[in-house]
Amino acid sequence: MKAVVYEGPRQVSVNDVPDARIERPTDVLVRITATNICGSDLHMYEGRTDFETGRTFGHENMGEVVEVGSGVDKVEVGGHVVLPFNISCGFCKNCERGLTNYCLTTQPDPAAAGAAYGFAAMGPWAGGQAEYLRVPYGDHNCLRLGEDAAEKENDYVMLADIFPTGYHATEMAGVVPGDSVVIYGGGPVGLMAAYSATIKGAAKVMVVDRHADRLKLAEQIGAIAIDDSKVDPVQAVLDQTMGLGADRGCECVGYQAHDPQGTEDPALTMNRIIASVRFTGGIGVVGVFLPADPGGPDEMAQQGKVPFDFGLSWFKGQTIGTGQAPVKKYNRRLRDLIAAGKATPSWIVSHELPLDGAVEAYQQFDDRTDGWTKVILKPAMPAGKAG
Ligand SMILES: [Zn+2]
Ligand SMILES: [Zn+2]
Repeated sequence: MKAVVYEGPRQVSVNDVPDARIERPTDVLVRITATNICGSDLHMYEGRTDFETGRTFGHENMGEVVEVGSGVDKVEVGGHVVLPFNISCGFCKNCERGLTNYCLTTQPDPAAAGAAYGFAAMGPWAGGQAEYLRVPYGDHNCLRLGEDAAEKENDYVMLADIFPTGYHATEMAGVVPGDSVVIYGGGPVGLMAAYSATIKGAAKVMVVDRHADRLKLAEQIGAIAIDDSKVDPVQAVLDQTMGLGADRGCECVGYQAHDPQGTEDPALTMNRIIASVRFTGGIGVVGVFLPADPGGPDEMAQQGKVPFDFGLSWFKGQTIGTGQAPVKKYNRRLRDLIAAGKATPSWIVSHELPLDGAVEAYQQFDDRTDGWTKVILKPAMPAGKAG
């Protein structure tokens, strides 16, 4: 089968790899209909992780079930499913508590927790930017979709990662109706955090970024766009909140935070968010930070150390939540919002491409080319055709 293969820093190919197949009775085999390129794919694409060459990308996957193992009870051939990017078992100590983002069964390293498709340090699992995907513990990991699966495909595929991840940022920040919320980072996850805050009834949502295409999308859902290449974003948030700071903040940038000139500072958004959120406010950090970053700008960054203003945050009595999203905690409810027509996260999609469009798509997305806000790969689309 064809898949998107990592060849080395800033190099992918679309190549033949061994077919995905049922390996255990609890597996489900899915023919991929839609699979997104994610900002966290770019960390690996840029060679900033120890992702092995020859492995396949793709953790935001949706498709049609073509085969089920003998131990699968609920999922049926012909059904359409969307897969949380977290691969989890459902029965380990963390999964039992709903923390499927830190599954202990699907991560083979006993010193680590959590697994994902096609992801550095998240287990050996193949990615879904491919024609087919093996889904372990299929009954547990497949979220079944209704008859509108194809019609609303671009909405439902966002349930694999970015919609629940954005929602999780607002959960960790503690967003409730009437809150003012500042989102740092207007990429797909930041836009989903803004969207989630809006769905939850936030009174004021502010999105800080510097890319015109992203800020325009933020404004389309009623958020206030703050361009940090033009104004001091902390001052802009204070000006919007009577000098008090926002009730809640969501960090959706991560360790590759940089100023508009491109100088990296992994503490940049953390410090800005701590300064932008009021005393006793809440902060949810879903931007990726790593325990080691060999390509980081200085020795501290290379060791995964981020010198952020903990003293100020402590002084303000802020609550900070961190880590990857437990997608299964939210995906069913968010699916039902989509099914009911009350959420349409596909508004951020800029490109639908066949699998062989991945080579160009990775390059354009990595370059932050204007207008490339979210790319969906559709393996059934004829090669060379853009939609
Ligand atoms: Zn993702
Ligand atoms: Zn587990």
